[in-house]
Amino acid sequence: MNVTAVFENGVLTEERPGAVRPPEELWKTRKGGLVVVECPQRIPCNPCHTSCPTGAISSFADINDVPSIDYEKCTGCALCVAKCPGLACFVADLTYAPGAVLMKLPYEMLPLPEKGQTVKCLGRTGEVVCEGRVENITEPHRDRTMVVHVTAPADKVNDVRAIRV
Ligand code: SF4
Ligand code: SF4
Repeated sequence: MNVTAVFENGVLTEERPGAVRPPEELWKTRKGGLVVVECPQRIPCNPCHTSCPTGAISSFADINDVPSIDYEKCTGCALCVAKCPGLACFVADLTYAPGAVLMKLPYEMLPLPEKGQTVKCLGRTGEVVCEGRVENITEPHRDRTMVVHVTAPADKVNDVRAIRV
C-alpha cells in the first residue's frame, strides 16, 4: 500500500487502524480509566513517554518510534493527554457510571466549557457522534493546557475524540 496515500488525511479508520487500545477486560474494571493512544506514524516525538509518571508509556529506543504501552502501569492520570502535541492521547474510564464512559480529552480552545454543561462530542473527522456532559476541567501540568472530562454513552468510547462547546 502507498504510505503517502495512507497518511494523507491523518484520520484513523477501520481500514487504516492505528489505535493502541487497552485490553477489554482490564478496561472494563480499571477505575480512573486507561489511556488510548492514536499515533500510528513514525515521527520524532516522545512527550507522552516523558510526561508519564508510572512508566506506562515505554521509553523510546528511537525518537521516531510509535508509543508502546504497559496497561498494567496506567493510572488514567491524563498527564500524557495534556502533553501530547498531536492531541493523540485520551483517557477513557468505563467504570465511571453504568452505561457511560468518562473521556478525558485535550482541549485547546477558548472559552472553556463549564462543569455540568452539555457539549457536542466529536469523532476523528469532526463529525458529531453524540452529546456529552462536562464533569470536570483540569490543568494537569499547571501550564494552561486543559483536559476536559466528559461523560458520553459507553458505546461511543471508540468514537469520541473531541468536544465542541
Ligand atoms: S494516563 Fe497517566 S499513567 Fe496512563 S499513560 Fe498517560 S501519563 Fe501514563
Ligand atoms: S506525544 Fe503524542 S504525538 Fe508524540 S509520540 Fe506520543 S502520542 Fe505520538
